[in-house]
Amino acid sequence: MIEKEQKYGFEVYPKRDIVITRGEGATLWDDKGNEYIDCAAGIGVASVGHANPAVAKAVADQAQRLITCPGIFYNDTRALLMEKLVSIAPPSLTRVFLCNSGTEAVEGALKFARISTGKNGFVSAMRGFHGRSMGALSATFKYRQEFEPLIPGHTFVPFNNIDKLTTAVDENTAAILLEVVQGEGGVRPADREYLQQVRALCDEKGVLLILDEIQTGFARTGNMFGCQTMGIEPDIMTAAKAMAGGFPMGAVLCRESISSAAGKHGSTFGGNPLACAAAIATIDFMLENDLSTQAKTKGDYLMNKLDQTSPAIREIRQLGLMIGIELKSKSRPVIEKLMENHILALPAGPTVVRLLPPLVISEAELDQVATTINRLLTEEQ
Ligand code: PLP
Repeated sequence: MIEKEQKYGFEVYPKRDIVITRGEGATLWDDKGNEYIDCAAGIGVASVGHANPAVAKAVADQAQRLITCPGIFYNDTRALLMEKLVSIAPPSLTRVFLCNSGTEAVEGALKFARISTGKNGFVSAMRGFHGRSMGALSATFKYRQEFEPLIPGHTFVPFNNIDKLTTAVDENTAAILLEVVQGEGGVRPADREYLQQVRALCDEKGVLLILDEIQTGFARTGNMFGCQTMGIEPDIMTAAKAMAGGFPMGAVLCRESISSAAGKHGSTFGGNPLACAAAIATIDFMLENDLSTQAKTKGDYLMNKLDQTSPAIREIRQLGLMIGIELKSKSRPVIEKLMENHILALPAGPTVVRLLPPLVISEAELDQVATTINRLLTEEQ
């Protein structure tokens, strides 16, 4: 299988030499039957656990009834999902646009902001990540050089610095676009006070606030959305990743005042009944099992178990079950050794080991993760 992918795949991803064939909860198996504790979760996707039975059943049931139905028709499953999304979102977000990925959600958010304000300037953060299509990439700090020229009007400021942000906003600014925790950029939570100042700045200047909750959304940080953890409400919010239990799906949630760009934006697959059924089952599972509280409790538990005094560690940053261990050396070798020890983790920049386990991970699994990391980092010395 590795040879086949190497032969036919387009070499975009830095690969790891295992063939994942099965998952359950926070456990993954490879084709040789080896077992792994998954702290990657499909890059923050499998929050309700791999092969979640409720999601699998919802997808199977819906697939036998209706798989596809474009947005030009009404659909029962889609209507129920939209109602559910609005019920768990911050109260001011009352409108939903459904799409198929995080990048596409950001793309939609940028277009809605432009059409609502008649302006085309955006300010986002250094180290921020919002996707790789030409629009989303224009708002992303990294991975851009090879693809320039990108869309003009995007500027970048240091994260968590309200003075620099205030200076960057001008009469052409449509929106400020930020993550609540910079995920790809190294697991860097926004300061609560900073986000509140950003909200006040937007209100004062008549600029929209777009929060990208693609990685932080759906219970990861201890609330359904990270902005609820931070006590602010955006004008536009993007979501994806964990939203449909692993089924590809994205969403843009908007205030009533945001223009829908009627007839000027759309997606063939966006809001298809299969994805909507998966998302309903995922959200119900999250609510029934209070995964928000689980994320907080388990994140704090893992933090306490990790040896923060290890001389290999510069800093550990955490919000809920989103943890970044910043090392004094490169993170890749540690991530490789973790895999040899049957734990799958992610990088977030060159020196950060990122842990985004399924929120259903058990205490025993977290113990094993912490013990292994502590041991490997001691051996590193
Ligand atoms: N925005 C954020 C904050 C992300 O973390 C990601 C993916 O990692 C994206 C956007 C892009 O999402 P997708 O890969 O689903 O297109």
